[in-house]
Amino acid sequence: MAEERNHTRSVLIAIGANLPQGGQSALESCEQAVQALRHVPGLRVQAVSRWYESAPMPPSGQPPYVNGVVLGVTSLPPLVLLDHLQDIETQQGRVRSVPNAARTLDLDIIDMDALCQTAERLVLPHPRAHERAFVLYPLRDVQPGWVHPRTGQPLEQMLQAVEGQEIRVIG
Ligand code: AMP
Repeated sequence: MAEERNHTRSVLIAIGANLPQGGQSALESCEQAVQALRHVPGLRVQAVSRWYESAPMPPSGQPPYVNGVVLGVTSLPPLVLLDHLQDIETQQGRVRSVPNAARTLDLDIIDMDALCQTAERLVLPHPRAHERAFVLYPLRDVQPGWVHPRTGQPLEQMLQAVEGQEIRVIG
C-alpha cells in the first residue's frame, strides 16, 4: 500500500479549448488550466508546450481550438488524476453535452508512463492521440523522444502521418 502511494509516474496531459468563457478567451482558459494543474496535490508540472491553434476535428462550423500539452510527474493513481482533471473542466464551466461538442475546456490524459489499459472511464494511452496533430505537435515540445506505448511508433513518424492537418503556433 505504502509502495503504491509512493509510486510516481510521468504523465502527459493534453489541454484544449475553443469557446470563450466568462469573459476570457480560449487561450486564457488553457493558461488557467495550467495554473489549476499546478495546484493539484500529487501532481508536479515539469514542462508546458507552446500554444497552438487548430481546426476542429471532425470538421465543423465551430471556432478553432487552442491546444497545448503538459508534462508532469504524479503519485496519483490514474483515476484519481482523471477526477482532478474533470473537476478542473467543471470549474471552468464545461457542460458535457454531445461528443465533440464545442467546449470551454478539455483535459485528456495522453500517456502515463506507458501504461496500457482499456477501462470504461480511462483508456491509456489516449486512443486517438496518435492521429491528432493538435496533440502530437505540442507533445513534441515537451517530450520529443515520446514513443507510442502500444505501437512502438516514434513521434516523428506519427507527425508525418498528420502532416495535412491545419495547425499553427500562437504563443
Ligand atoms: P471528452 O469528451 O473527450 O472529454 O471525453 C471524456 C470521457 O472520456 C470521460 O468520460 C472519460 O472517462 C473518458 N476517457 C477515456 N479515456 C480518457 C483519457 N485518456 N483521458 C481523458 N478522458 C478519458
